[in-house]
Amino acid sequence: MYPRAFKYERATSLENAIELLSRNREDVRPLAGGMSLIPLAKLRLLSPGCIVDIGRLSELKGIKQDKEWLEIGALTTNTEILESKWLSGSYPLLLDTVKEIGDVQVRNRGTIGGNLAQADSSTDWPATMIALRAKFVSRGPKGERIHDADSFCIEPYTTALDPDELLTHIRVPNPASGSVGASHIKLERRKGDYAIGIVSAQLEVDNEGKCVSVGVGIGAVGVIAVRASKTEQLLKGRRVDADTLAKVGDTVRDSFGGMDILSDIKAPSDYRLDVIGTLAERCISKAYSMAASAGAGQGKGR
Ligand SMILES: Cc1cc2nc3c(=O)[nH]c(=O)nc-3n(C[C@H](O)[C@H](O)[C@H](O)COP(=O)(O)OP(=O)(O)OC[C@H]3O[C@@H](n4cnc5c(N)ncnc54)[C@H](O)[C@@H]3O)c2cc1C
Repeated sequence: MYPRAFKYERATSLENAIELLSRNREDVRPLAGGMSLIPLAKLRLLSPGCIVDIGRLSELKGIKQDKEWLEIGALTTNTEILESKWLSGSYPLLLDTVKEIGDVQVRNRGTIGGNLAQADSSTDWPATMIALRAKFVSRGPKGERIHDADSFCIEPYTTALDPDELLTHIRVPNPASGSVGASHIKLERRKGDYAIGIVSAQLEVDNEGKCVSVGVGIGAVGVIAVRASKTEQLLKGRRVDADTLAKVGDTVRDSFGGMDILSDIKAPSDYRLDVIGTLAERCISKAYSMAASAGAGQGKGR
């Protein structure tokens, strides 16, 4: 099916993009890689009267590091992230996540900003950004705003952004010491299907093997990605042994509060809730082993 006819505008700069979005504020969408927007428009699930193409805005592309964080431009593609020199070694959770995304075409065209602005719990980045306590920078007619990853997505397919506001950058805090471990695990029926459960975790351990910082994000279960706060509380200050791991599943299931749980032809809600506990145990066990062996490696060098 063809999309409904729409006005197409190509932005020449960030300021121009915001101006075009503001002028068409009532019925407009920015276009990044188009991997979600175009199929939704063709299915007529979304029919914006105006599309503002931001795809050529060089100021929203690229990755740079400063003292506090790694800053990723919203228009950076998944392939550019995968191939970035910054990821090798220092940001294991970013690397683990981006490897899981789609196929080559989706990684080549899809942008990290488009993925997050899509606010789809079943994609990979939202859970990871919650685990990493990332900040999102946006810009609109009233200037710049900073959003916590936890509160960026309000409901499925709806973010905290105004219609004339763009996500411009994602700031991922720099990892603390060398004793960091991470893991991103997702369950799909077949490779490339929508996920049935996603767990993303990053742990930092001290030299006694106790967790000093913990971030756990869960996707593809609740209608939006969530932080597993009770799991983080369980792990903080502890070594992750078999007794602790056995409690992970129940604490993860507590993360959803009164939230609706996804249920569809791929997996009903009770299956998703059941399987996410097992995925979380595996994910945390893997992240902890990585962190503990990084800590042991440091100890040897001292
Ligand atoms: C076959 C297929 C397989 C896929 N598999 C995976 C997968 O395994 N894992 C995964 O995580 N994802 C997967 N995806 C989803 C894909 O990653 C997203 O479609 C993609 O990331 C969206 O990014 P985009 O740049 O194409 O955004 P677009 O499609 O251009 O935009 C998506 C939405 O975000 C808005 N938007 C875009 N950029 C901005 C911005 N900077 N500021 C504000 N709003 C913005 C648009 O208006 C639109 O509403 C898959 C998609 C397809 C088609």
